[in-house]
Amino acid sequence: MKKTAEIVVIGGGVIGTSIAYFLSKKGKKVVLVEKDDLASGSSGACDIDIILQSKNPGIHLKLAMESAEIYKNLTEELDFDIEYENTGGMILIEDEDQLQVMREFVKKQKAIGLQVDLLDFKEASKLQKGLAPHLVGATYSPQDAHVNPMSVCMGFAMAAAKLGAEICLDTAVVDIKTSKGAVKSVVTNRGEIETATVINAAGVYAPEICAMVGMSVPIKPRRGQIIVTEPVPKLIMGDVLCAKYIVAKYNPGIVECSDDPETRLGVGLSLSQTRNGNILIGGCREFVGYNRSTTHEALTTILKHATRLVPALKEIHAIRSFAGLRPYTPDGLPLLGPVNGIEGFIMAAGHEGDGIALSPITGRIISDLITDGKTFADISSLSPKRFDAWGENRFAS
Ligand SMILES: Cc1cc2nc3c(=O)[nH]c(=O)nc-3n(C[C@H](O)[C@H](O)[C@H](O)COP(=O)(O)OP(=O)(O)OC[C@H]3O[C@@H](n4cnc5c(N)ncnc54)[C@H](O)[C@@H]3O)c2cc1C
Repeated sequence: MKKTAEIVVIGGGVIGTSIAYFLSKKGKKVVLVEKDDLASGSSGACDIDIILQSKNPGIHLKLAMESAEIYKNLTEELDFDIEYENTGGMILIEDEDQLQVMREFVKKQKAIGLQVDLLDFKEASKLQKGLAPHLVGATYSPQDAHVNPMSVCMGFAMAAAKLGAEICLDTAVVDIKTSKGAVKSVVTNRGEIETATVINAAGVYAPEICAMVGMSVPIKPRRGQIIVTEPVPKLIMGDVLCAKYIVAKYNPGIVECSDDPETRLGVGLSLSQTRNGNILIGGCREFVGYNRSTTHEALTTILKHATRLVPALKEIHAIRSFAGLRPYTPDGLPLLGPVNGIEGFIMAAGHEGDGIALSPITGRIISDLITDGKTFADISSLSPKRFDAWGENRFAS
């Protein structure tokens, strides 16, 4: 027998589960389908940072700040321990050139309302022990925070289920049927679900789902590799990045062409410490398709870079490593909202290295768009329609 659903959400990562929760809160009957398990994709193979300082000043930062506000009370709201901690965070600066770039970045972020300051080396050292003496300083924001992304997925999914959502794990979407330009049903390996509304929250697999309705989107996997240390007493103050991380994130062209492995692999420091005491040492940014292996070259380059900036890490044992895929888009912004030509097909994917930070606000925006047809902010720059020409060009080539 065919199932029916008011709304089908595809994907059980931080984005799909958040959307399922916010829609359920508004009284919508949601079925979430996940081909494997909750957090089995990028949301289970990433860092833990809700870092605002890394966001481009503009809509990106504005949404991250709104999202951070929701996070503050999310543990209570979901009645689930998501390991939220308002730690603060820093971006380490190595030389005068980086200082110039970060000074401009901070000025623009402050104009949007972020509490962020430039610190000299002495001030930075008071916040983070064990820094290399060659550093010239850091930016610091007290607004950065941490969560456990896997717990965020569980918390959202369980709260959605309590509100009536159906969470279908081990259920892969294999087709989407449309008629007269509108969604009619979602076909899974376990049967068909009749629905007029489907939300594509499949992360790096969003292009596969788009292809089912004849659409093409420029989301592609960007691998990141992370080293996990043994648990140690509190050493890392919060989210600690370096200015090179910002360059690697927003300039894929520069990093791919370089002969220097650190630059070519898009290595930039990202340090955080879990509640258990394990330090996560990252990271890199590589376009290698859907390959989720770790590589000796990247891991050693990441460690060399990290210990150069924070020599205190040399004393700590690494115990394992993993890799995850960021859903990259050419302009660094996610695709949120309806698409041209297919009524009832909504995009919510392409959050690159910001999906954890942007998860709550994405759930709110998509639920607002579906229930009210509008949301609190002008999100036209996030519309999937901005890539319509890209799609046509691609089909033509
Ligand atoms: C190394 C690394 C570090 C990161 N660090 C941070 C960080 O500190 N802070 C931050 O904000 N972000 C970070 N990110 C980014 C963040 O992890 C992602 O933006 C986020 O997890 C994307 O969530 P998602 O729900 O869109 O995708 P996913 O978590 O990948 O969820 C998509 C789900 O869709 C499912 N799916 C796919 N196809 C189908 C199908 N056909 N049928 C049914 N289900 C399907 C998949 O199984 C998957 O579970 C990091 C990413 C990486 C790789």
